[in-house]
Amino acid sequence: MTAKKDLSAYKGVWVFVEQFQGKLTRSTLSLEILGEGRKLADKLGSELTAVILGENVEETAKELIAFGADKVLMADAPVLADYRTELYTDIICKEAEERKPDILLVGASATGRDLAPRISFRLHTGCTADCTELDIDEDKKILVSTRPAFGGNVMATILCPDHRPQMSTVRAGVMAVPQKDESRTGEIIKIEVTAKEEDAQVKVLEVKQHEASAQNIQEAIRVVSAGMGACSGDCFDQLKDLAKELDAEIGGTRPVFETGLISHDVQIGQTGKTVRPELYLAVGISGTVQHTTGMADSRTVVAINKDPNAEIFKFAHYGIVGDAKDVVPQLIEQLKAVKA
Ligand code: FAD
Repeated sequence: MTAKKDLSAYKGVWVFVEQFQGKLTRSTLSLEILGEGRKLADKLGSELTAVILGENVEETAKELIAFGADKVLMADAPVLADYRTELYTDIICKEAEERKPDILLVGASATGRDLAPRISFRLHTGCTADCTELDIDEDKKILVSTRPAFGGNVMATILCPDHRPQMSTVRAGVMAVPQKDESRTGEIIKIEVTAKEEDAQVKVLEVKQHEASAQNIQEAIRVVSAGMGACSGDCFDQLKDLAKELDAEIGGTRPVFETGLISHDVQIGQTGKTVRPELYLAVGISGTVQHTTGMADSRTVVAINKDPNAEIFKFAHYGIVGDAKDVVPQLIEQLKAVKA
């Protein structure tokens, strides 16, 4: 039997922050996790450390203090300008082995989903993926990670009692963005970067901006979302016109993605994106749990459905019972009239 690891030396909450060209990317996700990390650190009576790697990231590091970090671990070097798995994993693991964080949180973005399992494997610890809720067990003072399981029918609570750091990746759009407080002070710790370009096995030749609006939809203030009830005839085109009038992004349900009318990048729900815009307009959507998981935290939900008993109305602040083919053109007309 192997001796139980001494965990008493592990202290503090770390949050890995994503950047692109020195600025916060998927900014709300990194900030949401920072806000959540702050709450966990306060419950544990420990420090919150933001971890940022990149080139010219010092200004962003200062911003992270204003958003709640006590310390920022910063690796600033040209070789780190673009995210590369091996270089980032090497640096974070080395720092974690030396500094021994109790908790390490990473965004469930494309980068985070690549990075977090590498780190957890290297550090011989567990990682709970795609969490929607985080808390601290009052008695044991350990991280309690919650995530949907079994097709969203069960919320699983996962603990990592015997290994450190306790790691989780966190879904975008499920936690609140903290308030910025310019008066906060903190410490920026510069990590010495010894990695050289020739050490990297992956070379970044070119970075192209992805045209699809996956990032936009998660940061959108308004979302017009299409269900199968909004796909027949020219109804979907009308929805696009409505989105234009509202300055909103278009999203939709999985069956609508399967018809090819929207890309997977903007499918909302359990196997798609989680959004929490100010306004979520659900048109011809039935409201199954697999869909509502991705939009239930929207500030104001307006649902249009011809079935008065549709499940989506349970999530709606305002409901319109009617045929989308009639209601959508009327809304466009009304919006145009208000703007005129
Ligand atoms: P429907 O269920 O067919 O509903 C259409 C609605 O439109 C009905 O309520 C109907 O009354 C109304 N309607 C019809 N005609 C009109 C009209 N003219 N005007 C107004 N209303 C009208 N789904 C997702 O959305 N996202 C996911 O990420 C996702 N992941 C899944 C994962 C798993 C493992 C599984 C099993 C399923 C998943 N699904 C997901 C599918 C999900 O279970 C539902 O099938 C889907 O959300 C239903 O889509 P819908 O509301 O567009 O279509």
